[in-house]
Amino acid sequence: MARALLLLLSLLAGGAPAMASAGDCARLQAAWLSPAPGQSPAAIHAGTANGALHTFDPRRLWRPPRNPDGVWVRLLPACGHWPQAPRVLVIRTPGLGAITLLPTQGPAVRDALEDSDRARWHAAGMVAFPLQVMPAAAQPLWLHFEPTRALSGTLTLHLLDAPAFQRTQLRWVAYVSAALAILVGMALTALCFAVLLRDSAYLLYAGYVGSYALLQALATGYLFQPLGWGWAAPDPVALGRVAGALSGVFSVLFAWRLLDLPRRLPRLAPLALLAAGLFLLIAVCSALPWPSLQRFGAVLQNPAVLFAGPLMLTLCLLALLRGSRYAGFFLVGWLPLVLLTVIASAQHFGALPALTRLDPATLGAAAFEALVLSAALADKTLAARREHARMTVLAETDALTAVFNRRSLLDRLQVLMAEADAARLPLALLFLDIDHFKALNDRHGHRVGDDALTAIAHTLRQILRNDDVVGRYGGEEFLVVLPGRDGVRAEAIAERLRTAIAARAIGGRTAAGGLTVSIGVAVLRDGDSASALIERADQAMYAAKAGGRNRIATGDTAV
Ligand code: GH3
Ligand code: MG
Ligand code: MG
Repeated sequence: MARALLLLLSLLAGGAPAMASAGDCARLQAAWLSPAPGQSPAAIHAGTANGALHTFDPRRLWRPPRNPDGVWVRLLPACGHWPQAPRVLVIRTPGLGAITLLPTQGPAVRDALEDSDRARWHAAGMVAFPLQVMPAAAQPLWLHFEPTRALSGTLTLHLLDAPAFQRTQLRWVAYVSAALAILVGMALTALCFAVLLRDSAYLLYAGYVGSYALLQALATGYLFQPLGWGWAAPDPVALGRVAGALSGVFSVLFAWRLLDLPRRLPRLAPLALLAAGLFLLIAVCSALPWPSLQRFGAVLQNPAVLFAGPLMLTLCLLALLRGSRYAGFFLVGWLPLVLLTVIASAQHFGALPALTRLDPATLGAAAFEALVLSAALADKTLAARREHARMTVLAETDALTAVFNRRSLLDRLQVLMAEADAARLPLALLFLDIDHFKALNDRHGHRVGDDALTAIAHTLRQILRNDDVVGRYGGEEFLVVLPGRDGVRAEAIAERLRTAIAARAIGGRTAAGGLTVSIGVAVLRDGDSASALIERADQAMYAAKAGGRNRIATGDTAV
């Protein structure tokens, strides 16, 4: 599965030149040489330089050994003679640092991934030397890898014909552009969310994805070719290291925040802070202008990745087991990237040289991760919205009866009165008071009284329309707002409510029947205030009580 994914990503990212050229004279034989200091290119060229030649397979990943004078590579055609048609010598992915080709004829050509000199020809994402005239017979081509402060890239060497090279370039540019666009787009979106929602999780995510995009734009050379923004990175090695370390800091802190590590894994969480601190140290060392500190930062880089990657995956797994909602997102999003990054780091120590397309696969995994983590952030926003809705319901609802509480009832009454006024529509208000409720409490206790209140509220909600508003006004008093209903309709509704409650044997059936309510009805008049309307309904309710209870009365006749 992982192999299939790698193959897919590598095909997307520029095909497999080794396959394209297998079997013909384009296959190369390579050997490297670290000459003693001071030996001239001419001596190298003439084959008189001192130093042992070490053969290596140029189709597998090879890392130029470190040497103060750089390293020379001798290339020969595997079949004994060079193809006699123009070819392009492709070095991918060389990392930052210059490479010089000494052709058999003509001047030396020097190029680097980070060279964005507009007057010259450059390939994108790889160093490529076009060979218009191929060497005669089996003369060697020599390449010089200059010493570099950068962690030198692991690379392969291929000889491609022009169409294969062009295909490789186009695919590479399309693939890297798409992946970087996803990363930059996600980072900018998260930045907007961070500002709008004032949530630091988005800021950490934006920092993480943004600095990772910068690191990739530098490491792949995309910033120089095709973007041509070399001016933005006068010291690409230092900037790349700072960007990489910052993406480490932000990613760990983002996980810390989203997975709630200090609460969920209080004992192990400090290890995450240690990892973040390590990355921060690398970032600071790399940003400062002292070479010894920069070297120290460089030495720490790979161990930090090898420590933080598995650590964060373990913490994610444990957080998942402890019920973290977002740990699943992290695991799915991170796993491919962390695995590939750890393998890439291990490749710098010579492991797994046959996995030659790890760089584009890593970039693809980063884009995939950015998408998965943005889904996690969307989920977080959704959860916040749900929580807000829940709090609103709690704030508006009467805890016992689950109808509106007094404050939100009055708010709604005012809104509905204003709407009725504006639309010249009727509105009626019912004031319900339970009859002899105190006696029920005294006889059966408050629990039964509470149950009776809940049951009456339930009956009201069952009978009324969704547009009608029911709220608990006081202890055993309810208000019902009936928008669009005139006095006659309101009285009919009140009567239905009264009979339904009386028929339900709420509070236990006695000789006199169940609990009953007295209901006062009032209709909205021009210029009414909410309190005046309530007052009239209340007066009507008292009139109903005075008339013998378990009945309705209207405010307009009662006043
Ligand atoms: P009537 O209205 O018919 O004149 O008689 P009543 O017994 O209902 O009279 P009143 O309005 O004075 O009594 C209201 C009683 O409601 C007093 C109190 O014990 C009871 N009550 C108020 N709030 C609650 C509550 O939340 N739970 C319970 N169980 N009882 C409540
Ligand atoms: Mg009362
Ligand atoms: Mg009462």
